[in-house]
Amino acid sequence: MELPFAESWKIKMVEPIRKSTREEREQWMKEAYYNVFQLRSDQVYIDLITDSGTGAMSDRQWAAMMMGDESYAGASSFFNLKETITRLTGFEFIIPTHQGRAAENVLFSYLVHEGDIIPGNSHFDTTKGHIEGRKAIALDCTIDEAKNTQLEIPFKGNVDCTKLEKALEDFGDRIPFIIVTITNNTAGGQPVSMQNLREVRVLAQKYNKPVLFDSARFAENAYFIKIREEGYADKSIKEITHEMFSLADGMTMSAKKDGIVNMGGFIATRLQDWYDGAKGYCVQYEGYLTYGGMNGRDMNALAVGLDENTEFDMLHTRIHQVEYLAQKLDEYGIPYQRPAGGHAIFVDASKILTHVPKEEFPAQTLTVELFLEAGIRGCEIGYILADRDPATRENRFGGLDLLRLAIPRRVYTDNHMNVVAVALKNVFDRRENITRGMHIAWEAPLMRHFTVKLERL
Ligand SMILES: *Cc1c(COP(=O)(O)O)cnc(C)c1O
Repeated sequence: MELPFAESWKIKMVEPIRKSTREEREQWMKEAYYNVFQLRSDQVYIDLITDSGTGAMSDRQWAAMMMGDESYAGASSFFNLKETITRLTGFEFIIPTHQGRAAENVLFSYLVHEGDIIPGNSHFDTTKGHIEGRKAIALDCTIDEAKNTQLEIPFKGNVDCTKLEKALEDFGDRIPFIIVTITNNTAGGQPVSMQNLREVRVLAQKYNKPVLFDSARFAENAYFIKIREEGYADKSIKEITHEMFSLADGMTMSAKKDGIVNMGGFIATRLQDWYDGAKGYCVQYEGYLTYGGMNGRDMNALAVGLDENTEFDMLHTRIHQVEYLAQKLDEYGIPYQRPAGGHAIFVDASKILTHVPKEEFPAQTLTVELFLEAGIRGCEIGYILADRDPATRENRFGGLDLLRLAIPRRVYTDNHMNVVAVALKNVFDRRENITRGMHIAWEAPLMRHFTVKLERL
């Protein structure tokens, strides 16, 4: 008999979590203005708000923390990190930053100017924020298939090269670079194929544009290439990683995702010009060049995390758990973005809360209902996150309206996934009775989802 699947690690330290009553949760949710970002974490039983900075570090990462070099300039921890990144990606120039959006801020301060157009596949919200905040345009060139949540295709995060080429033809000089997000977070944690990365590269060369990878989940992307793309089954994750980055000129990284650290990020590039241009902004916004926004100990832990998380067993354990939750939802008939993504399940709220009009934010309503049901905190990746059009100030209802259940790395067991699935089923079973959603009482001009105040209708 074949041995069943099990995690590629065992547990050395635990943290208690606590259940609550429905009455408590009703009160907390009201006090939080129906915005889960405003809840206190001790009010949450199972926290799937994000996989960002919420992973469990390994004993080797904790050991590396103790060896951190906190020297202001030229710390050995910086060189540990730099050598690891260069070995994994081939990029020679490294700028550490305090997280992914800081990497965007530093690099885009040099690269993005008013009136520019930056084409890519579903720009992440902070990426879009840093582009639009500079009065430039984030042009989404994702394949149309990504919008159909029920369609099962292996690389649903891909760039539509016809759309990309049209943008390059129409806007030529206004495009400073092309951005490819791996995996495509906004489209549901969907991977981009090596073939697609190669096609983007060919277009970039034809129009003489550099390519930037927004790389928060590059290791998960490499895993999907190994599993799903012809010709990669026998390659190691590290070989695939190297090949992916050979098709880019640089990367911005939120190390809080595939770096499995609680805080950190970096820019890495092979272009002297990008490095020299960004350097000054690093010093201005983040810190001196050999620490950017990071402690020495954190750079050490990140170096180990990057190494560990580009090993097959680690990624297989993780993605197996996401697929496990997906199978449970299949059993209950709950629609989600198919196939299951790398870091999260994206539940299709518009197919569940069909009586809630889009103006009343169905995915946000579902997010609130799941918390009220069992103290499980997911997060809306939908119409509230999509924000308003910068020109017309109208809500953007063009995209998907999803409830994201992001799974932290190495944190919860499959038993927790069982609880999540049943809680969601209970909400699903009473979906016909949910007819009203939310109304915005207050919102910020940019990235409103973090602070929005809502009223229940
Ligand atoms: C998280 C993320 C970012 C921003 O990184 P932070 O570390 O949260 O600042 C950028 N792009 C993608 C694809 C991300 O997932």
